[in-house]
Amino acid sequence: MKSVRNIDGVAQLVDVPTPTGDGVRVKVKSSGICGSDLHMLDLGMFGPDMTIGHEFAGLLDDGTAVAVEPVVTCGTCSQCVRGDYNLCGQATTDVLGFGQDGGMAEEALVGPEQIVRLPASVDVANACLVEPLAVCARALRLTGFKADHKVAIVGGGNIGQCALAVARHVGAPTTLIARHDAQREAALRLGAEVPDSSLSDSSSDNLPDSSFDIVVDAAGTPDALQLCARLAAPGAAMSLVSTYWSGLELPGVEICMKEIRLYPSIMYGRYNGGRDVEDAAEVLASNPEIPRAIITHRYPLDAAQEAFATARDRASGAIKVVLTP
Ligand SMILES: [Zn+2]
Ligand SMILES: [Zn+2]
Repeated sequence: MKSVRNIDGVAQLVDVPTPTGDGVRVKVKSSGICGSDLHMLDLGMFGPDMTIGHEFAGLLDDGTAVAVEPVVTCGTCSQCVRGDYNLCGQATTDVLGFGQDGGMAEEALVGPEQIVRLPASVDVANACLVEPLAVCARALRLTGFKADHKVAIVGGGNIGQCALAVARHVGAPTTLIARHDAQREAALRLGAEVPDSSLSDSSSDNLPDSSFDIVVDAAGTPDALQLCARLAAPGAAMSLVSTYWSGLELPGVEICMKEIRLYPSIMYGRYNGGRDVEDAAEVLASNPEIPRAIITHRYPLDAAQEAFATARDRASGAIKVVLTP
């Protein structure tokens, strides 16, 4: 079968044996390219013998449409037992698409516990969005956010838009600040307040007031963190949902003076009987505009190299680029 792998630092299509062994077979129908895929390619962190892709969905042998929760956990450590299996020692090393074969291929074998059943209204072609939506469902859940909280999101890429979709799902008034026109247009479609000016730093005169109960850094840069701190109301919660590959530079004085509470988050887990990936599927089911606004490009597996180039090119207007095996 066809599979996308790291060949000399480039995501390329190769022919590999169809996977066999234990697990549930998923015929992949949508597989998203994530910013972390691009980073890990650049850093040489993918082995050549592993299929890339942790955001994917497809059909079981009986035709059931499912998304996949790519995290792999031990199930017995104290983190796993309390539902924070994203913090299991195994979770960050063995994730499908990072530590073992992922979803940029015609088929994947996954554990039965990794299957996420989809609400009937979710098209499997869009269900690769369940994974990034789950990242944001957890991130906002950790802040204790509620429908009447004012939310500000800094960053209009995929994670910023997914956080917006999660916040709007409960009706929270949400402002999104983005650099690129395509990002601002997508945010408007998802129901955000979008400030006119292209705000790229916290010193702009056109910023909204410091009145937000929840601020979300979905850009991962020192500028974005400063902007978040400036927008935060006293006592606000700041969600650190980005991956801070080169360190976390926080505006210390503003954070202390406002007692901004910091909530780092990674991946997704369970809580009081709930499951972030299932909440994410509900969010996706609730608003058909979400995939229309966020998925900007679709490519067949054969065009994987072009798809990765589009995902990398800021001028392409790409928010989420999806491979369609
Ligand atoms: Zn991702
Ligand atoms: Zn564990």
